Amino acid sequence: MQTRLTGSRYHVLLRSLVLLFAVIAVPDASADWFKRTLDVMGTRVQVELWQQDEVKAQACIDKVFAEMHRIDALMSPYKPDSEVSLINAGAGSKAIAVSEEVYDLLQRSVAISAMSGGAFDITFSSVGYYYDYRQKLQPDEELIRQKLDAINYKNLQLKDRTVHFARAGMRIDLGGIAKGHAVDNAIEILKQCDVQQALVSAGGDSRILGDRQGRPWMIGIRHPRDSAAVALSMPLTDSAMSTSGDYERFFIAGDERIHHIINPKTGRSADRSWSATVIGPRATVTDALSTTLFVLGADRGLELIETLDGIDAIIIDASGVVHYSSGLMDPAEKN
Ligand code: ADP
Ligand code: MG
Repeated sequence: MQTRLTGSRYHVLLRSLVLLFAVIAVPDASADWFKRTLDVMGTRVQVELWQQDEVKAQACIDKVFAEMHRIDALMSPYKPDSEVSLINAGAGSKAIAVSEEVYDLLQRSVAISAMSGGAFDITFSSVGYYYDYRQKLQPDEELIRQKLDAINYKNLQLKDRTVHFARAGMRIDLGGIAKGHAVDNAIEILKQCDVQQALVSAGGDSRILGDRQGRPWMIGIRHPRDSAAVALSMPLTDSAMSTSGDYERFFIAGDERIHHIINPKTGRSADRSWSATVIGPRATVTDALSTTLFVLGADRGLELIETLDGIDAIIIDASGVVHYSSGLMDPAEKN
């Protein structure tokens, strides 16, 4: 308890000193926050940055959105000429050469599959492809039975920057990792633009560069069963946070919620969580891990997070109970 009080007094003191310094040393009246929002990659993307010069700020934001469009064209499974579509169309019959960027994401995806016992698996699409959340369509028992074996990252053969499907009927989809990658690339672009404070978010994936004028950003986690409410907010500086929830894309069939995060073992919507949030240094990792934890559920999910340095998580389980990893707990409550 005492440690916390001393800690917060110290922070207040430090913040006052920083503010004082800012007022004396940097009397720049023209600097401001610049913000733009655009729908790309099937989601809402937001960029907000602190800049001295409006023309420069708008040019940086243009570059970020151009990057989002580039990644969408490369990785969308809905665009017939994307690399992912070319892999899906051809890798069943021969090894397909891919770009270094896509190859790198495929390797990262397989690594996360291996560490999660297959909870994260981009070949989920072998069955996932047959869901259409807008049209309220899902594959029937027979189709799932036929296609389920095609979900297995071990049959994704990666060699010398080529991809080959070792089994018939396989498909991949990078929807669980591509947005995080796009957010990380956006932050790199902003750094090259000399931006020191920014927020980039793409749907449930956010990353913050620096802070918000000496204070942390407060990033909310939506209440999974009340779209108007925020379940909790996290103070963040210089880090990434991703949330995967069963409320993003779903429909209700009977008493079942059919949504876009698939349990690779069953080919059906994962049902252990309402939402999973991961906080860490990079959005590519927090994105893939939020999907992973959603599938694993609170017990196994937090067990995995405790093995990873510098990464924390909050899981709201399927009864609405909130579970935190040890790094987020009050030191006084830890045991
Ligand atoms: P979103 O921000 O789109 O909600 P998430 O990070 O929650 O993204 O991931 C959901 C997406 O991940 C799905 O739309 C799908 O493309 C992909 N996905 C679904 N299930 C899995 C899985 N078990 N492993 C890897 N990717 C998955
Ligand atoms: Mg994710």
